[in-house]
Amino acid sequence: MKIVNFSSIDKKWQKEWEKAKLFEAKEDTKKEKYYALEMYPYPSGSGLHIGHAFNYTLGDILARFMRMNGKSVLHPMGFDSFGLPAENAAIKEGAHPRKYTDTAIKRFIDQQKALGLSYDWSRKIQSHDPEYYRWNQYFFLQFLKKGLVYRKESPVNWCNKCESVLANEQVHNGKCWRHTDIDVVIRNLEQWFVKTTKYADELLKDVDSLDWPERIKAMQKNWIGKSEGTEVLFEINGEKWPVFTTRVDTLFGVTFLVMSAQHSRLSEIVTKEQKKHVDAFLKKIKSTKQEDMDKMDKEGVFSGSYAIHPLSGKKVPIWIGNFVVADYGSGVVMAVPAHDQRDFDFAKKYSIPLIQVIKPAKGEHSDKNKAFEDYGVLVNSHEFNGLTSEEAIRHIQIALKEKKLGKEVTNYKLRDWLISRQRYWGTPIPIIYCNDCGAVPVSEKDLPVILPEKVTFGKGNPLLTNSKFVNVRCPNCGKKGRRETDTMDTFMDSSWYYMRFTDPQNKKSPISPDCISYWMPVDFYTGGAEHACMHLIYARFFTKALRDLGYLRVSEPFTKLFNQGMVHGEDGFVMSKSRGNVVDPLDMTSKYGADTLRLFLVSMASPDKDSSWSSTGIESMYKFVSRVWDYSKNVRFGSSSPRIQHKVNKAIIEIGNGIKNINYNMVVIKLRALFDSFESEIDKGDFATYLQLLAPFAPHVAEEIWHNVLGYKTFISTSEWPTADKSRINDNIDKIEEIFEKTVSDIQNILRIIREKDGRDAKHIYLYAIPPEVRNFDKEVLSKRLGIEVSVFAVNDSKKYDPEGKASKAKPGKPGIYVE
Ligand SMILES: [Zn+2]
Ligand SMILES: [Zn+2]
Repeated sequence: MKIVNFSSIDKKWQKEWEKAKLFEAKEDTKKEKYYALEMYPYPSGSGLHIGHAFNYTLGDILARFMRMNGKSVLHPMGFDSFGLPAENAAIKEGAHPRKYTDTAIKRFIDQQKALGLSYDWSRKIQSHDPEYYRWNQYFFLQFLKKGLVYRKESPVNWCNKCESVLANEQVHNGKCWRHTDIDVVIRNLEQWFVKTTKYADELLKDVDSLDWPERIKAMQKNWIGKSEGTEVLFEINGEKWPVFTTRVDTLFGVTFLVMSAQHSRLSEIVTKEQKKHVDAFLKKIKSTKQEDMDKMDKEGVFSGSYAIHPLSGKKVPIWIGNFVVADYGSGVVMAVPAHDQRDFDFAKKYSIPLIQVIKPAKGEHSDKNKAFEDYGVLVNSHEFNGLTSEEAIRHIQIALKEKKLGKEVTNYKLRDWLISRQRYWGTPIPIIYCNDCGAVPVSEKDLPVILPEKVTFGKGNPLLTNSKFVNVRCPNCGKKGRRETDTMDTFMDSSWYYMRFTDPQNKKSPISPDCISYWMPVDFYTGGAEHACMHLIYARFFTKALRDLGYLRVSEPFTKLFNQGMVHGEDGFVMSKSRGNVVDPLDMTSKYGADTLRLFLVSMASPDKDSSWSSTGIESMYKFVSRVWDYSKNVRFGSSSPRIQHKVNKAIIEIGNGIKNINYNMVVIKLRALFDSFESEIDKGDFATYLQLLAPFAPHVAEEIWHNVLGYKTFISTSEWPTADKSRINDNIDKIEEIFEKTVSDIQNILRIIREKDGRDAKHIYLYAIPPEVRNFDKEVLSKRLGIEVSVFAVNDSKKYDPEGKASKAKPGKPGIYVE
């Protein structure tokens, strides 16, 4: 086999495609659209890794397939280029984040181009372009007008290493998501929030309509965390405080209340005597995130104050606990130790009494170490005694409503999205503070508020170090003002970039109605499962919010979501420099060519499953591509046998379906099997069809053979996907081959047994087939396959050699076998 320099073929066609603007997307109303998108990457300095290459190849195969199927395809790429990693890397390397980012992007693009990805590069987006982030600022102002953005002081997660606030989603087990060794601390700061909770119910309801992995859908639902319950008003220091519960049937079992340790009004309930204990307790708390709180040891301290029970009128002590989220409900929960295990453990720990108010419907609750958490029948609950839990919930709600001491409510775990970041490399928040006018929005005509180049790093918030940026006039009264120096969370950028791709050069508007209504929603969105809650919730929120502001008509951004599996190193471990098991995509494309890498990446496993790299695997794929190449040079073009006609036409259907269903690994098996069945002569059209089936996976080689062997002047990449001629499909051919293969493997088994048992090799095989099947067993082919001489007889052949009467054992599909 000749060594072919596939990498130079890659470059040639990549150039030709670019020259022909082959992949530029057009809003062609006569065509159906298809929008295939891979999550735009953060351009890290270390360049593209194999996981990126895999992710992009998955989307590219589908984009190419849809293009060949007559769709107008949008397949864009951009860069999520703002963010802390660039800022930190820049500080470390002494380079400006802009320079660091621009260099990284350039390298990324080179690597992406080497993979032969069919992107419309004319639509490239970079978050750090003022022409992109001006629209973040614009949307911020639109949201502000509609009350979807607001400012408030609140306890926030703070990472001392990031020197910035973290969103709840960015705190993992009480640690920073980037710095797993850094405990997150709680600070109180004035911050900007996006009111994602306004859409909590719709975000939850619409999850069911999505063609997304079930696991991701469950995570979204859980994150939004809807619960129906009752808001009960407890009187504290003469004021009514709302407390949320899903189990108001246990109301008479309340023996204490717990207030969040981060509650903004905590100081009002802490008595002088208890202050010292409370302060000591607060110092120990590391996270305000529900998930972390669920895992922490439940601890608390008595506040010194009491609340009045709304129905019994009894005094109930108020504790401060580390397991209550400040902005869940009102930040105060009722504790029912007899019927909630967490409260039970807490009460035991601090010797707080419990009152049983629910009895099992049958029998008694006997386990003294466990709370009885099930529904049952009410006891010790005044006029509600004897009611079932379900009945009691309704009756107690009515009783509370009559006294104006409570009502039915729905609660969500979802928090509003904190977007203020005390960092440089992000979108400046378009606000100016004035002593007289307060927080004044920058006028839309003054956008973008440009991120200044000149700042000093390493001394807190870098934007504070540029006085020209900070000291500005108030847009309202003209007096001295001070610009907001926080920047936006970069998830703001990624919340709508997929919309901007539909009209990326628009200077007048973030998106235009024509383009957005043509392209949205994204039909196929590929990326890592780590975005289950942050990016995907924010993007869904943005879509709904912008719909209500009149920008688009759809309610969901991504119709189908696909999470690719991880590509591990050859040793089965996550690829890492320290393990030395990293595979660089660029090394692979220059050694084997892009097509081999693409084919290999999607053949290792089902694309949604994890896989491990294999250097013998990619070698074998390289040999396959080389064999296709050699075949194209040596084949005789004439007519295809009925067998090949059948196989080619059947493959058109199977491979088309396989691609649509992202069963790429199965498709590659079929492509290889079909090729292996080819004979020394083939119809030119059938071979062209084969190349078309191969083209989404191996576009460069396909394009080269298409032009230079088959003589086409147009591109295979935009050729029309072949249609199967069903009259050529004859499933009998497959059946015959199956029987043939089965017979071969039966004989091989017999030969092996003889070798193992008798220690000798057989000399001759005699095969007895029923008359209609005789012609399916070519003795030359069989002899060659088995490496031993084979004779084939019909069972009714009177001249046959059959010393043991094996002919009588033959059945349809199973010839008799005699071995000598
Ligand atoms: Zn951090
Ligand atoms: Zn002013």
